[in-house]
Amino acid sequence: MCGIVGYIGKNPALPILFSGLERLEYRGYDSFGFCVLDDGKIDFLCKEKGKISDQCHIKNSESSGSIGIAHTRWATTGIVTKENAHPHFDCNQEFFVVHNGIIENYKEIKEKLLNEGHKFSSETDTEVLAHLIEKYFDGVLEDAVKKALKEVRGTYGLAVVSPKDPNKIVVARMSSPLLIGINGDEFIIASDPSAIITRTRQIIHLDDNEVAVLTPDNFIISKQEKENDCWKIADKKIETIEWNIEEAEKGGYKHFMLKEIMQEPATIEDAIRGRLYLEKGNAKLGGLEIVEDRLRNIDNIALIGCGTAYYAAKVAEYMIEEYAGISAEPDIGSEFRYRKSSFNKNTAGIFVSQSGETADTLAALREMKEKGLLTIGVTNVVGSNQARETDAGVYTRSGPEIAVASTKAFIGQLTTFALIAVYLGRQRDMALVMGNRIIEEISRLPELAREILDTKEEIKTIANKYINYRDFWFIGRKYNYPIALEGALKLKEVSYVHAEGTAGGELKHGPLALIDENCPTIAICSSDSVYEKMISNIEEVKARNGKVIAIATKGNEDIKKIVDDVIYIPKTLEMLTPILSVIPLHLFAYYFADALGRDIDKPKNLAKSVTVE
Ligand code: GLU
Repeated sequence: MCGIVGYIGKNPALPILFSGLERLEYRGYDSFGFCVLDDGKIDFLCKEKGKISDQCHIKNSESSGSIGIAHTRWATTGIVTKENAHPHFDCNQEFFVVHNGIIENYKEIKEKLLNEGHKFSSETDTEVLAHLIEKYFDGVLEDAVKKALKEVRGTYGLAVVSPKDPNKIVVARMSSPLLIGINGDEFIIASDPSAIITRTRQIIHLDDNEVAVLTPDNFIISKQEKENDCWKIADKKIETIEWNIEEAEKGGYKHFMLKEIMQEPATIEDAIRGRLYLEKGNAKLGGLEIVEDRLRNIDNIALIGCGTAYYAAKVAEYMIEEYAGISAEPDIGSEFRYRKSSFNKNTAGIFVSQSGETADTLAALREMKEKGLLTIGVTNVVGSNQARETDAGVYTRSGPEIAVASTKAFIGQLTTFALIAVYLGRQRDMALVMGNRIIEEISRLPELAREILDTKEEIKTIANKYINYRDFWFIGRKYNYPIALEGALKLKEVSYVHAEGTAGGELKHGPLALIDENCPTIAICSSDSVYEKMISNIEEVKARNGKVIAIATKGNEDIKKIVDDVIYIPKTLEMLTPILSVIPLHLFAYYFADALGRDIDKPKNLAKSVTVE
């Protein structure tokens, strides 16, 4: 999920790797490491926790080797320690691997390798790759890498070096970006063009199922053919990057927020990777296994978060109550900690925080722990305080989020909650067919999310049409009530205009007093169990001359007759609709704020991780 840099050429590799990693710092990471080879031997090997900038002496270390790989880690499997930092190696420290991504089936592979006598020195998923390569090595590094890759499932961008086959770097890709920079007689590999842009603009993007072998004077890229498992030389084009550094960091997008919204389908993919039991109609949540029996007896859940995470908790309330039949009550961290809540011994707390360091959520967690109740974490950051202090948990695996206003991390939380709801439901009386149906539909979500992003230009046009308004109302019901709150929060956070969200049914209990031609309403009215009710609410707004932008289900043409603008989302199960309906709202907030020229990635007065009360 974080960064890779590799170098092979005539110059000392270490300073080039170091400055490449420095350029990847913007992505955020928790640890880093290097491995440089010289004359067939390991010339420099280091793994550290923390920031590269705190270890500037590394750049000046004695190392003349001209082949090397380096990595910044954003932990997904195994907490943040020096041992878990990359490169990872085999039993005899002969094969060195840096890896971005997640190996889904690492537990099975590790168990097998342990039985075969391999000794592991980290808790990561990545380390199995080094041992598999060791196992299959028969003189040619790329052959061993290809054999190892046949055994793994998951995502990877990886680079491998070995003193046993010393004059090369082998790289491979599956759903995790990797490119080769070409600069005369040197090659630089990177997970992100910003790492190499100062050295070369000539690049080749690796595609999925490709393996490249780089030597000091050549490179060969081969692709595995699906039909017959054979490897064929791939015909690749050299591209020229026109971006400057800043644009490169944002992947060519104008802001991180837009880049992160565009990553939302991939975020869903990462959250569900290896976690769907299609036939069993269940979710496989390794992080909950140790409390499986305790969870079976839970009859009441407190769901705690702040800001956007609180809205994810509110969606979870509907999912868990409807599909697991457990009473669930969402609360804001800062309220929960000072309130006298009543629990019984079968109450569990689920704590939601992107960073896992949100002070109010942590305080609420500690409060609950003190009462001896079961605590579960839903967080994005491995090894965060929340992850360490809860009894068990599920990581959302959304990768680093740089824009202050959360978008993809929210999607990761919602997706994770959908899995938790199925898991809890299947522990109780959810029928197998129902489990099957939900799991199957969850597996379609990335594709459905992409369909929405394909309409981003239309959403931009609608956002621009409303640019002169300074008050907005967002309404939704049931699953989409929290999404109305999130839509309003996102709009105010990044555009600084006034926006409020309410449950559709609440309009007539107050907010209608503010609705007129100057206050447009964004109404989430997907075709579901509360559709008719939402239409009544829309009519209430229209009767007061309010403009309405509807988020509706594809195919609903009738809605056009009563609202001013429509943004369509694909049909899915009602419980999963929020994961889709929020995407156009994120885009609307983004384009609206962009048209106003706001500092979108760093809105005034706000911070990314709120570690103070
Ligand atoms: N899954 C690997 C780990 O946790 C790679 C993480 C990354 O992409 O940085 O070490």
